[in-house]
Amino acid sequence: MNKEYFVSNEEIELEYNKLKKEAIESGYNLNPDEDFTKQLIESLLINNKRYGYPSCPCRLATGIKENDLDIICPCDYRDQDLIDYGFCYCGLYVSQYVIDNKIKPHSIPDRRLKEIKKTSKNSINFKISYPIWRCKVCGYICARNEPPEKCPICKASKDRFEIFIDIK
Ligand code: SF4
Repeated sequence: MNKEYFVSNEEIELEYNKLKKEAIESGYNLNPDEDFTKQLIESLLINNKRYGYPSCPCRLATGIKENDLDIICPCDYRDQDLIDYGFCYCGLYVSQYVIDNKIKPHSIPDRRLKEIKKTSKNSINFKISYPIWRCKVCGYICARNEPPEKCPICKASKDRFEIFIDIK
């Protein structure tokens, strides 16, 4: 491995504990298979060193952040995959049902490939004073001039928000 991208066990341990704490606080679960989870976290940390952001370890990143925003972990597809399959595409996050029933995550279709961009712009016919922002990771919605620095629900950064309804 390129020395530049070397990740130590201490870094993995720190990130594991951080992600586990955040997951618990936000109502999510990391995969209880600690070895597997730590391998994914190592890949996330390597991607963070390589690209400057922790892109999904199971998808090919372009290296241009604007193009990869939807696959920065936690990706835009995590929550729907948790609902539909009980785990995210990589299996880093799993549902309580999967944990309770000791189900092993397996290969699922990549939602990114079939995602269709929808716009609600044309269906709005009432006047609003502030733009409405939507967190693409967890769906949190707020009305304000700018999105929050961090999503209060899932802690995703400001650049993971999209305009849901514009006032222009
Ligand atoms: S939530 Fe899962 S599928 Fe999405 S980026 Fe993170 S590891 Fe990959």
